[in-house]
Amino acid sequence: MEISTANLPRCQGTRKDGSPCNAAPTARSGYQFCAWHQPDIPEEEKLAWASKGGLASRPAVLPEAADIRLRTPDGCMAILEETASQVRRGELATNVGNSIAYIVSVAVKVVEVTISDRLDKLEKLARNRWR
Ligand SMILES: [Zn+2]
Repeated sequence: MEISTANLPRCQGTRKDGSPCNAAPTARSGYQFCAWHQPDIPEEEKLAWASKGGLASRPAVLPEAADIRLRTPDGCMAILEETASQVRRGELATNVGNSIAYIVSVAVKVVEVTISDRLDKLEKLARNRWR
């Protein structure tokens, strides 16, 4: 099966040569414009990105993002899936995605330790009961 990108939203801005931009639009712009053509980002900020090596260095964060819930495996999986999708769509910088993945991995370790402690207590209880 061939995957078509024809129906994906595209930036509605125009390039210097007058041609349509067609870059992937940001969620922050309501999928109307890419980060470069987003009207609510000041020109100085865009010029600062360009001088730091282009859009890849932009501070890609999601100010509207909901709080992350890491207390359940489902919560951890949900944030990993969401983050991976956001990085793939260019809505989130890869370093931010890596940071979130690391935080989730630490949360999983905490859950593992908690489960291990609870299992130890249960084993102790079971041993005492059968004595
Ligand atoms: Zn654009």
